[in-house]
Amino acid sequence: MILVSSCLAGIKVRYDGGDCLNDRIKKLLEENKAISICPEVLGGLPIPRIPAEIVGGDGEDVLENKALVMDQTGKDVTDSFLQGAYAVLKKAQEVGATCVILKENSPSCGSSFIYNGHFNGEKKPGMGVTTALLKRNGIEVISEKDF
Ligand code: SF4
Repeated sequence: MILVSSCLAGIKVRYDGGDCLNDRIKKLLEENKAISICPEVLGGLPIPRIPAEIVGGDGEDVLENKALVMDQTGKDVTDSFLQGAYAVLKKAQEVGATCVILKENSPSCGSSFIYNGHFNGEKKPGMGVTTALLKRNGIEVISEKDF
């Protein structure tokens, strides 16, 4: 089974209430080859929600308690991001996911790049929290750009 970011399948779960539709990924769902997950929603965050970025590191650092996830108002939302990441890991293990395709640049789902923590639209190399947790548990993650 393939696990994909819900927003890539056209489900409106993004912080702004929108999606990031990728037709090929949506087709995987329609053909019952994939299931969709949104770590931030699984972590209890609402739609829409205030945008958040990893401050002081990347997803690996969040797992090590060396960085935080903060929303744009300065609220610490690290616990919700961790809760979502562990929920996705559980799901991936339950369904025996052979491939995980997550949305690039997201503080949860990014696999090569994330926003830099200054809310200025600039990115830096690094993984989101969910991607880091999946990889740490031996699950390969690619972005929609590599699919
Ligand atoms: Fe998409 Fe992941 Fe953000 Fe959810 S957390 S909206 S699945 S990029």
